[in-house]
Parts: sequence; structure tokens; C-alpha cells
Amino acid sequence: MGSHEDRTYVVTGAASGIGAATAAALADAGARVIAADLAWDGAPSPGDVERVRLDVSQPGEWVVLAEQLRPAGGEPSIDGLVNAAGITRRARLHDATADDFAAAFAVNATGPALGIQALAPLMRDGASIVNVGSAAGTMAHYGIAYGASKWALRGITKTAAMELGPRGIRVNLVSPGFIETPMTASAPVAFRDANLVATPLARTGTPAQVAAVIVHLLSPDAAFVTATEIAVDGGLTGHGGGLPIARALTGD
Ligand code: NAP
Repeated sequence: MGSHEDRTYVVTGAASGIGAATAAALADAGARVIAADLAWDGAPSPGDVERVRLDVSQPGEWVVLAEQLRPAGGEPSIDGLVNAAGITRRARLHDATADDFAAAFAVNATGPALGIQALAPLMRDGASIVNVGSAAGTMAHYGIAYGASKWALRGITKTAAMELGPRGIRVNLVSPGFIETPMTASAPVAFRDANLVATPLARTGTPAQVAAVIVHLLSPDAAFVTATEIAVDGGLTGHGGGLPIARALTGD
């Protein structure tokens, strides 16, 4: 995964799931990790990290964090940001409320954009930002507000990559499929089962498997990778509907 010694990263949603695994992997690789989440009560620390409280949907809280991280000399000090904080909203088209859309967009789309706004001025040349999207942001999804917020995050990723490229800052998106975390633990069993059927690898993923891809995108090994999207989904979205057709023809 390469060394991340002498590098500083901010990871949101770091108390749980994919964010926690990413914070832990970065700390293991020698980085200084600012691990941010809504609350830390009862949550174990994901390794040797600095835990901070942050609501990603609140612009003022990002400003406070940026001020805390600004070195006395004012020179750039941050090497990357991982926007992993997220919430789900599972209501379907006819049931989703305006509040569902507002909540999903505030955390899953506006939050990452606010984080990029606040921290990009502190980033060094060569810094890397990774937004955690979703397979739900690349196809139709039964939870309309959640899916739409993840589609929006793809647009934010592309625009930020365009705007920040001249400063040497890369911005990419990772789109997980079904990963075993507290978020998916609250989903109906039928959702998990249907994902397994639709996934060519026929298994779910782990937070560490997503973290490994994020850590790669943060590293200089990915120095020419920006404005792109990587699915970490066992092939869920790649077959584009071909899997049930192939199965019907072959009986596999
Ligand atoms: P998770 O275990 O629920 O972790 C998400 C973390 O984000 C939680 O600690 C949560 O805190 C925190 N959070 C929620 N709202 C926040 C806010 N306003 N400010 C700061 N932190 C906030 O979920 P996960 O599965 O690891 O999800 C991580 C990311 O991956 C999310 O963006 C999710 O949409 C995406 N994703 C997950 C899957 C999957 O299968 N698990 C698939 C595709 C995409 P609380 O627990 O207090 O709410």
C-alpha cells in the first residue's frame, strides 16, 4: 500500500465501517490521521488517530476544523481527505419525503463539497481527495433519495477534480457495492440476498477491501489518477444486467 509516513489525512465517518477501516489502514501505514465523526461515544478508536467531532453537513464545523489544522506559518499541511461519512434513506419513489432528500443530500453530497472547500486551501501539491460514492450512484436504486445523493457526489467529484487539478490536487470516487458495515446491517435481509445474486463474485465485501483502494488512490502510486471512479463491488455494476441473461442461457 506504500508508505504514508509524514503525511496527514482527514477521514470523515471514521467511527464506523468504511471510514474506520480507512483511518486504521492509514494509521498503520504511518500517517497522521484526523478521524472525524458525529460522535465517538462508545466507538473504539480506529488505531492511533486523532479523534474529532464533526458534522459534515455544517459549514461552520468545517471552518473550525480547518482553523485547528492550519499551522502557525500558514503553509499547506494536509495531504488528503476521505469523505466517507454517509447516511442511508430507504424510502421508495412514492414514499420519499422532502426531508429524506434534504438529509441524504446534506450529508452525502453537500458534506463532501463543504469539506473540499474548507480543506483544499490547506492541501499540499500532490494531495488527494477520495469521495465514497455507491453502486447506488451508478444505476437505478430503490432508495431514491440515497441514490440521487450519490449520483450528485459523482458530479461534485468531477468538478472538484477539474477545479483543483491545476493546484496538483487529485479527486476521485470509490463506489462500493454491498459492504458488511453497520449501515448494511440495518438493511432488510432480502436486500443482502438480492445483492449476492446480482454480484458475480457472489459474496459481500469488507470495509478493509474498500479502504485498500482508497489508500491506493491517496498514495503517490496513483499520481496520474484523477476525476475517475472505481467500483469496489464484486462486479455488481459491471455486468449491466448481463448476469441474469447469461445465467438464463447457461443455467449456471
Ligand atoms: P456506517 O458504518 O454507518 O458509517 C458511516 C459513519 O458516518 C457513521 O459513523 C455515521 O455516524 C457517520 N455520519 C453520519 N452522518 C454524519 C455527519 N453528518 N457527519 C459526520 N459523520 C456522520 O456506514 P458505512 O457502510 O461504513 O458507509 C460509509 C460510506 O460508504 C457512506 O458514504 C455510505 O453511503 C457508503 N457506502 C456504503 C456501502 C455499504 O454497503 N456499506 C455501500 C455503498 C456506499 P452515525 O452512526 O452516528 O450516523
